[in-house]
This record gives sequence, structure tokens and C-alpha cells, in this order.
Amino acid sequence: MADMVRTRIAPSPTGDPHVGTAYAALFNRAFAHKHGGQFILRIEDTDQTRYREHSEREILESLNWLGLTPDEGPGIGGSYGPYIQSQRKELYIQHAEELIARGKAYRCFCTPERLEQMRREQAARHEAPRYDRTCLRLSPREVQRRLDEGLPYVIRMIVPDEGTTSFTDLIRGVISFENRVLDDQIILKSDKLPTYHLAVVVDDHYMKISHVIRAEEWISSTPKHVLLYQYFDWELPRFAHLPLLRNPDKSKISKRKQNTSLKWYRQQGYLPEAMINFLALMGWSMPDGREIFTYEEFEREFTLERVTTSGPVFDLVKLTAINGKYIRMLSDDELYERLQPYLPPGLNQQKVRRAVPLIKDRLTRLGEFMDLAGFLFGSVPDYDPALLVPGKSTPQQALQALTQVRHLLESLPEPWTHEPWEAGMRAIAERLGMKAGDVFMILRVAVTGSTVSPPLFGSIEILGKHETLARVDSALDRLRALV
Ligand code: GLU
Repeated sequence: MADMVRTRIAPSPTGDPHVGTAYAALFNRAFAHKHGGQFILRIEDTDQTRYREHSEREILESLNWLGLTPDEGPGIGGSYGPYIQSQRKELYIQHAEELIARGKAYRCFCTPERLEQMRREQAARHEAPRYDRTCLRLSPREVQRRLDEGLPYVIRMIVPDEGTTSFTDLIRGVISFENRVLDDQIILKSDKLPTYHLAVVVDDHYMKISHVIRAEEWISSTPKHVLLYQYFDWELPRFAHLPLLRNPDKSKISKRKQNTSLKWYRQQGYLPEAMINFLALMGWSMPDGREIFTYEEFEREFTLERVTTSGPVFDLVKLTAINGKYIRMLSDDELYERLQPYLPPGLNQQKVRRAVPLIKDRLTRLGEFMDLAGFLFGSVPDYDPALLVPGKSTPQQALQALTQVRHLLESLPEPWTHEPWEAGMRAIAERLGMKAGDVFMILRVAVTGSTVSPPLFGSIEILGKHETLARVDSALDRLRALV
């Protein structure tokens, strides 16, 4: 590629940082860096009604968390700033005026009421809603009179009545729109702020964006952008529209149906490298089909040609499975370190360290640590005493079994080792004519408070003799109350 490759994401700071933003960031960054170029963050905050204060900082924090830090952007710097649209207002006004001067745009004084009336009439005639160009027909004198009067106005671009506007999408091929279906789009609002269409074109031009890689939902806006590039006599960037992420029911990904906030994924303890790997599989695949790979490998292999057009499902089950794989690839020491932000304060770190190998195989999110290993900390867990009585046994049998288990544990010298413990437990089961699994279950509930837990022996080993026996004693009390 001869020219410098420059890509960007242009999120609007309207809420929590969105998984779709991370997805676009990943593909844009990989593409730019693969070609030795730059990846830019621009904040599109011209819709003041939807603006949310912390959103901008959170977007950058989320990108940093994922390792997708931009090369240029707000708070980062770069030679093409400012990178926040509300700080570029004058530029858009100038360019809207320039289009009027070039005969490609006009002021429109129509009131919201008049536009509403027009739409109603169009609907009654079964016509598509479209501005009827009343103000395009105003004489220059009339326009001046209204300006002198101080009437509010918007600026609209002129879309030709005939012909087609086409562009080549690097993923989808040539896409054409009939001009007659396009509206005379507003490019500058009455508050003198640009609409998305003007701002995106002006900024992509001045920020020297070579490739506009964005979500599929912007395809229908692209012909308007292409016309604006033509009106300004600017060179077109190349376009590529990524498939839209979808909910499992195939609808467009939405926070009503699943979590879309990157903050949520971080809080739950999804690893950034797992998130990246998962997002890279959304509409893209490795040439050799392997499913687990690093960002660096993705960047090396990434091509837009391999991006599919069918909407990939953002499948939480799959993400969670990938996350589990990444957790298991960590060394125990690494996992211990990475668990730290997810632990309540004041936890016995010695125990945390020992619990890590015990729960590693089951952990699917870092935030799950306390669910799995919480019983190791604090005093006797609370549970329903009925859990101490497995399937076909009676409370009497359970009491007998646990009494014998207590003797066994008492008699085994510390440090406990697995073999004599297991042999002893099995011998008890046999003596009482019970299933070995049932005897293990009684002890499991006694020490963990649950019928599902990490490996039992490892658990009692970490708890130590004193605490284990205290829990068994408490369970014996509960059983006595049942018989
Ligand atoms: N502000 C738009 C958004 O929120 C940017 C779309 C584009 O990349 O052109 O996604």
C-alpha cells in the first residue's frame, strides 16, 4: 500500500463503552498496524442530548484494558487534533458554508411543525418521507430577509434527483444507491452543530483517514458521504463495513438482550486477551482454522478479505469457554496476581495462593473465585442440614458415617496426605454398607456447605485439621437435630 494507512474508530460518548466499539477497534487497529500505519480514536459528541459525562474517559480506559490503545486521540495527542468533535465546531460551519457557496447545499428555514405536516401528507400519499425542497426554491433575497430576521435554519446538502451513487466496499464489493431514494440530508443543525454526516466526512478527510472500517449499520449513510467527498473535491477513503454483532436470536446486539458494556465484562473477570480472541472470531477466522490465538498473531494474519458478511453471534457461552481456556493457560502465580482486583479486602493471601491450583480448572471468570472458593475463608458455612443426608440414606446413617469420619480425620497426623485419607473414607463406607460417594458427599457438605465444590481433599488440606474438625462438629450437631 503506497499511502500511509490510517484507520479510526469514532464512538459517540452516549453510555457505557460498548462491545461493538471494542470490535471495531480491534479490526481497525490490526489493519492499520499490519500495514505500518496508525489507529486513531475520535470522539463524536455532536449529539449533545445523548452526551454522557464519563463516557469518553471510559472508552479510553476500556481500550487500554484490552490492549487496544490508539496511536492518536483525546488524552493521547497526535498532529491531527483536536480529536473531539465538539472542539472542531468552526471547521464544520466553514465547510457547510463552503458547500452553499459551491451550490451543493442550502439553508432550510422549515419549522418542525411544517416538516411534520409534510411527512403526514407524504404518508397519506404512501410516499417515502423526504424533504420537499421548499427552501431550495427560495430566492437569494428571501433567504437574506429571513437571515436578517434572525430565523433559525439548518443547512441541507443537495442530493441529485437522478443517477446512482456507488462505492466499493472492501468486504462487500460495489454497493450502489439510487440518488432518488436519498434525502436532502441536514448537515448543520440549527444549533450550528454538524450532523454525523458532515462531521464524519470533514474529520476523516482532515485526519487523513485512508480506510473507514466501521459497522454495517453505516452502509446506508455512505452514499451521502461519497457525495460530500465529491462536492468538496476530496479523495475518497476506502470503505469496509464489518458485520453487525448479533444476539443469539440474530437481532442486532442490544443491551436489552445481553450485556454490551465492556465495564461489565471487566468486572466479571473476563481476561482482556480472551475478549480479544473472542472478538477476532466475530466474522473472521484464522486461515488454519485455529480458535485460540494472540492479538499479535491476529494482526499478522488479518486481512479484510477474510471478513464475512453474515452477522456473527455474540455468544456468551463461547466467550466464557474461551475465557476458561485462557485462565488455564496462566501459571498459578499469574492467576494469583490477576485475581487480586476481584478479591474482597482482607482475605488470607496464603489461602488464596493455595486455593488457586484447586479451582483453576473450574474457574471461567476471575470474578467467580469467591463463589468457588469462598468457603475456605471465614467460619462454618451456612447450609440446609438436609444436604448432609445423601439420597437413599437416613439422618441416622449420615450421623454414624460422619462420626466415624471425624475419628478418622482426628487420627490422621498432619500434614494430611491423600492416600490414607481416601482409604479410610472408603473403609468407613464399606463398614456401614454405604456408597463411598455418599460418605464423601457428607464430608463435602460439612466442610464446604455445598454439594458441589473443588476437590474435597485439597479443600480440607487448605482448611487444616482444626477448622475441618470444627466444621464437622457443627455438621454433627445439625444431624443430631434431624434424628
Ligand atoms: N459516531 C458513529 C458511531 O457512533 C461513527 C460511525 C463511523 O464509524 O463512521 O458509531
